Amino acid sequence: MPVEPIDTMGRPIRDLRISVTDRCNFRCTYCMPKEIFNREYRFLERDLLLTFEEIERVAGVFSGLGVRKLRLTGGEPLLRRDLDVLVGALAGIAGVDDLTLTTNGSLLARRAAALAAAGLKRVTVSLDSLDDAVFAAMNDVGFPVQQVLDGIEAASAAGLTPVKVNAVIQRGVNDDGIVAMAEHFRGTGHILRFIEYMDVGHTNGWRLDDVVPAREIRERINARYPLQPIDAGYLGEVAQRWRYVDGAGEIGIISSVTRPFCRTCTRARISAEGMLYTCLFATAGTDLRVLLRGGASDTDLAAAVAAVWTARTDRYSEIRSEATVPLPKVEMSYIGG
Ligand code: SF4
Repeated sequence: MPVEPIDTMGRPIRDLRISVTDRCNFRCTYCMPKEIFNREYRFLERDLLLTFEEIERVAGVFSGLGVRKLRLTGGEPLLRRDLDVLVGALAGIAGVDDLTLTTNGSLLARRAAALAAAGLKRVTVSLDSLDDAVFAAMNDVGFPVQQVLDGIEAASAAGLTPVKVNAVIQRGVNDDGIVAMAEHFRGTGHILRFIEYMDVGHTNGWRLDDVVPAREIRERINARYPLQPIDAGYLGEVAQRWRYVDGAGEIGIISSVTRPFCRTCTRARISAEGMLYTCLFATAGTDLRVLLRGGASDTDLAAAVAAVWTARTDRYSEIRSEATVPLPKVEMSYIGG
């Protein structure tokens, strides 16, 4: 059994996020702006994508290095054909006790049952507003709220619980819907999480003025529905958790901008073409596909990953500044959130 690598800040690898496609059927303005990701945009050709067998091998190697949680992401992962076949393969990897997926929910109502049957444990669904006009403007393809809500209910009915619902909050865009979202998901068992708008990638035109700080999000809800803090459930949990005093469930707030959590970040990311990134805001990655297709053994792969991780110094959210925002950071749609 290889020794678990620890990075320069004492962090192990516990969480691997695997992007299975760089394509998406939405054009969320803060992630995949239409002006950039248009008809001319060259998405990854199929033969450049890691095959399911390669993804399974990589996930197995990471599990041997300490990973306990696998998250499938995209783009929109449900656009990848036969995804439940991959889910079935990953569900069987020793040492992995959590297998989840992040989706925009557009295809979930039709796919939830098959994914659950294949071994998926939970889902996280992105939904930035309950207001159809606001949501349509944010996803920029006019997709309706109700179909995402149907997907959430289908996932819940299939046992992919607790369903987490992520909403990225932008000032002047959807922040006036914060309390309405809290109200809608209270008492449902679904966990609503608000995400501070982040300078992911280098195409979303991010400005600090457009960020609604976690403290303000909490205060707005607390004024209507009193909240009390909940301790983190495990090392590396990204959300600050709050429960409703009246017992109607909990919410989470992910505060990468105003309250960084890099000190406990145990996440690695793999792009759909096999590039390893050690931070969401990375500007460079390590090509694992060349090793996979170059005859490397699992031991070679593990050594390559361990070498990258032990040299890791990432803490972008702690050093974010006007100078770092324009850096050519990898796009979130390419490596998943
Ligand atoms: S900014 Fe990078 S190091 Fe910090 S929590 Fe996010 S992914 Fe981890």
